[in-house]
Amino acid sequence: MSGKKIMLTVIALALIVVSLFAYGQKVLAYNVVIGGEVVGQLKDAEVLEEAIADFKSKKENEIGQVVNEAVNIELQRAQIDEKLLVKDVNELVEKKVVFTTKAFSLVVDGKPLFSMLHKEDLENLLKQYKAQFLTSVDKNAKVESLVFEENVRIVSDQVTLNSIVSMEEAKRKLFTMKEEPVIYEVEKGDSFWLIARENKTAVADLIRLNPELDPEKIWPGDKVVIKPGKPMLDVIATLKNTIIEDIPYETQYKKDSSMLSRDRKVINPGKNGEKEVQYLMVLKNGYQESLEVLNEKVLKEPVTRVVKVGTKKTISRGVRRNYGVVQGKRVSSNFGWRTHPITGRRSFHDGVDIAASYGNGAYAYSSGTVTFAGWNGGYGKVVYIDHGNGLQTRYAHLSKIYVRKGQQVSAGQKIGAVGSTGNSTGPHLHFEVRKNGTPQNPFNYI
Ligand SMILES: [Zn+2]
Repeated sequence: MSGKKIMLTVIALALIVVSLFAYGQKVLAYNVVIGGEVVGQLKDAEVLEEAIADFKSKKENEIGQVVNEAVNIELQRAQIDEKLLVKDVNELVEKKVVFTTKAFSLVVDGKPLFSMLHKEDLENLLKQYKAQFLTSVDKNAKVESLVFEENVRIVSDQVTLNSIVSMEEAKRKLFTMKEEPVIYEVEKGDSFWLIARENKTAVADLIRLNPELDPEKIWPGDKVVIKPGKPMLDVIATLKNTIIEDIPYETQYKKDSSMLSRDRKVINPGKNGEKEVQYLMVLKNGYQESLEVLNEKVLKEPVTRVVKVGTKKTISRGVRRNYGVVQGKRVSSNFGWRTHPITGRRSFHDGVDIAASYGNGAYAYSSGTVTFAGWNGGYGKVVYIDHGNGLQTRYAHLSKIYVRKGQQVSAGQKIGAVGSTGNSTGPHLHFEVRKNGTPQNPFNYI
């Protein structure tokens, strides 16, 4: 061999050695395998352990309790791959390594919703959640039970750090509705009756779902719940409430042939009695599911009102129940104050509601002058009659009006037909008596 050839061979060998050495350096890399998946590559195995330890102690300081890493982290020798090479090992640990700690999970029908570090936080949250459905319930009502319809449990477990939520996040998750409620905003000329018909529901359901609203006094802008929303968890509340209610007095009419018709003489003015009524109610998510009377105790018997009526010539009273102004079926709502058994809200009814068939006649209480005949807000089609001496009567929710403003009417004259216009829940006559503008108990007059 010539010197030149030897030289070349030495150079070639050196090159091989150098490249082999370089190759040997390259193969010293580790694949980080978590749960069977290669999540990156490291040149140095120790940095991973350090990063895990750092992260753990950082988290432990943060939450004040022991943090464990999931055990299925493997390092496998591998050929180097620039694309897999991890630039920031701390980021890899934070994103890919699973850490667990002891926490409390909210488990609904066997499915965990989320976890919190402290049991008391979860318990407080559930308490708040339940309480939201009692906000419009009468403060005097006694809560017998307040339970979830679902099987709700708090379970202690080792959970992953990222399934633990803050109070704020937990609230957001729990208080979000699964389905929003259907709410209708009252417009001019609306009534429960019309709203129910438009929304294919029943007046009784609207009354049940909207205890805050007085069906006879709804106004444009009022919000009516048509269908309640679906919350994350259903809460069933059973409550008892005791309400003092009036027992309306009855009127006994005594015929007197010596008196002229339309003449009345009150022998005994009568007096409402009082009773204590205990209600049992079941609410689902704040809405009435059932409402029943458990007990009734009479505190004060009513005193019958006795009226002498002249019979010389009188308006027809031939029907079983004749309220003078209408042939009705029953009194569906009395005059005066009433306390709602669920909300405890007091409302005043300034007339009597007499349920009657649609189209039945409405008759003038006594002779007088029509001062209003037409549509008036919640009254719907209504007639006002002035009888003199500051006495006025009103006939509301009519379907038809047979008189006009300024017209003179006589006692018992047909002035309109029973209907359900205005804020009405069904065909009935709302009859009102006002003395110098102040509503009076109509039963003192008919
Ligand atoms: Zn009424």
